[in-house]
Amino acid sequence: MSIRILLVEDEPSIAEIVEFALASEGFQVAWRHLAGEAEAELAATPYDLVVLDIGLPDGSGLELLKRIRRTSEVPVAILSARNAELDRVLGLELGADDYVTKPFSPRELAARVKAILKRTARSSAASQETAGQPTESTWFEIDEDRATICFRGRSLELTRYEYFLLKTLLARPERVFSRAQLMDRAWPDPAASFERSVDTHIKALRAKLRDIDPRVDPIRTHRGLGYSVRASDRS
Ligand code: CA
Repeated sequence: MSIRILLVEDEPSIAEIVEFALASEGFQVAWRHLAGEAEAELAATPYDLVVLDIGLPDGSGLELLKRIRRTSEVPVAILSARNAELDRVLGLELGADDYVTKPFSPRELAARVKAILKRTARSSAASQETAGQPTESTWFEIDEDRATICFRGRSLELTRYEYFLLKTLLARPERVFSRAQLMDRAWPDPAASFERSVDTHIKALRAKLRDIDPRVDPIRTHRGLGYSVRASDRS
């Protein structure tokens, strides 16, 4: 089955180039001009990835991304005419998987799209592995019934928050989660804590992982953005 990509872009000249570049890679591309059309299309049809322009006639692509992320984890690559640091950070904070600045070469965009698809395919395979039979190449095993996580074959002694935090990161290896996203997803009651405490729990988690294997440091800090986890040697 071919991979379906939804392209949301109001400028026909750019849309044609993107569509051609992605179709040349064998992807099936649907093109929508407006945020509203794209949202309706996503609700009706499953897509493997969305290429999303920020400046759309009926609203900001970032707003659309925010609405998409309420219900869907579909990978999103943002296209922007502005190389503004703030947009980039905001896009990634809102859950975009990549951020491409115009002008870009069609080949570069196709390469980035392929990289995202590879990454997400790998992470969904990894979460399937952790849900069922763990494989040797995955560092972590989650036992949901017992609420425990093993790292390199050894059970981690985790507090409740540390467990939820690590489980959230492991659901999407390599994906950067902001502190606010980690609070939202990992904390049973986000309002009760402060963002700062994410750092404290990450620090404690890192120490526990280091106790088991000091050679690898699976949790990465992304300055100004948040954290991600590496789940295996493959990444
Ligand atoms: Ca535009």
